[in-house]
Amino acid sequence: MTESTITLPAARIPVIGEYDVVVVGGGPAGLFAATAAARAGRSVVLLERYGFLGGAGTMGGLSTFCGLHARVDGVDMRVIRGITDDLLDRLIALDGLNDAHLSVDDRIMAQAFDISAYKIAADELLVSAGAEVLFHTSAVDTVLADDGAIDAVVIESKSGRQAVRGSVFIDGSGDADIAAFAGAPFERSEHLLYPSLMFRINGVDYDKAGPAWRTIRRLMEEAEAAGTHRFPRKKPIVRPQRNPLEWRSNLTQLSNDDGSAVDGTDVRQLSHGELQGRRQVRDTFAFIRERTPGFEDSYVVDIAPQIGIRETRRIRGRYMLSEQDVLGCADFTDAIGVNGWPVEAHVAGDVEFRFAPADSRGFNQLPYRMLVPQVVPNLLVVGRCASMTQGGQSSGRVTGPCFAMGQAAGTAAALALGAGVSAGDVDVTALQARLIADGAYLGTEEPTADMVVPTPVSAR
Ligand SMILES: Cc1cc2nc3c(=O)[nH]c(=O)nc-3n(C[C@H](O)[C@H](O)[C@H](O)COP(=O)(O)OP(=O)(O)OC[C@H]3O[C@@H](n4cnc5c(N)ncnc54)[C@H](O)[C@@H]3O)c2cc1C
Repeated sequence: MTESTITLPAARIPVIGEYDVVVVGGGPAGLFAATAAARAGRSVVLLERYGFLGGAGTMGGLSTFCGLHARVDGVDMRVIRGITDDLLDRLIALDGLNDAHLSVDDRIMAQAFDISAYKIAADELLVSAGAEVLFHTSAVDTVLADDGAIDAVVIESKSGRQAVRGSVFIDGSGDADIAAFAGAPFERSEHLLYPSLMFRINGVDYDKAGPAWRTIRRLMEEAEAAGTHRFPRKKPIVRPQRNPLEWRSNLTQLSNDDGSAVDGTDVRQLSHGELQGRRQVRDTFAFIRERTPGFEDSYVVDIAPQIGIRETRRIRGRYMLSEQDVLGCADFTDAIGVNGWPVEAHVAGDVEFRFAPADSRGFNQLPYRMLVPQVVPNLLVVGRCASMTQGGQSSGRVTGPCFAMGQAAGTAAALALGAGVSAGDVDVTALQARLIADGAYLGTEEPTADMVVPTPVSAR
């Protein structure tokens, strides 16, 4: 579509703060980055466009942590530690965390949480570390210094257009917004992973429903085979929450009229996706309610605040984590954490899972270099927009590795400031020692017995 343009006059805007570390985005990666940098004694501000933290976990309605665990030589272990231990303890204290359950045909563990509890626990985690948060604040541009470093991010909120200065910037926007504004190289797949709109069902008769996560999938497959229904995608996930009256649903798939995936950086496509997603929720829920024992009196209690975006921009940093790295359980000398989630590719009409061999260590290490852009010396990029190929990102984007990346980046930012070096030139050995001292597991030692998670009696 051809669009005309207008020219804005140059403007002076107020600088409302100056911080050691400025983090954009309060998803799992940004939240942990800000927490780690603040715990290291740095002045930190986290800028978040919504009024709560958690990223896709809350705004996207996920309600499940994936990637906290790995199946290590056949044994299920929680391999994401450090700040994660603190967050999970806070969720338990709020009675907002399920025991870990077996997921993806019982091949890997995941752990469900209560979304409201996560919002509260995330607030407490960040505030107790001493970081400041500016909610309802979107980062819309960067101002660069002569050497290409970021001097300030331009923000927009109900207070108008303002700026925040910093020494180190951490991009946890999910979309690599800051990297893109600042001119760091990034790529975007020709065929993006498809987004989904999550929703939750309440009023389920749990005893009657039983393991309905299997029943619903079978019923949907049978209806498709009979030609009576056509669903947005295969492999629906409908599972009980902590209170089994309530079930989460991950089964929609959002596409444009030409069949391509909705692009989370295009506002028209986002708008189309919201409308389409709610229609899919309406139609698929009607089928579930009509056909599934135990769901007769159920209703949709919540549709996520926005469609969940799996992939947009990914930076091309000093190293790109690849699918081969994930499936081959790769080691890196600059490891800053681990990832045990399989490759989970949301392709047209389906979800493809690919696992490391069953007799393997079951996790890859995450290199520090995947957080470091090729240019912009005071920027680190964390989470689903870090430097990964599409195949690598199909695994490394889930919450567990995002937590690990965030803790590493926040810690690295503090070390860089202490040493007076650029973010990419941090002493990696010192960074690894600091992360281990702070409880993180980097995969450099054998996992310990306390990391083993007992197989749940109930698959809930
Ligand atoms: C439908 C769906 C289902 C998924 N299911 C699971 C699951 O069950 N378990 C799991 O672990 N993972 C799941 N994932 C993967 C999930 O995306 C990641 O786990 C994770 O949330 C990515 O973290 P992040 O911090 O990189 O980005 P995000 O979670 O996307 O967070 C980015 C944050 O930055 C904010 N932001 C963005 N741009 C700006 C800006 N310019 N200014 C200010 N703030 C900004 C956003 O509001 C958001 O809070 C799913 C993803 C989708 C889309």
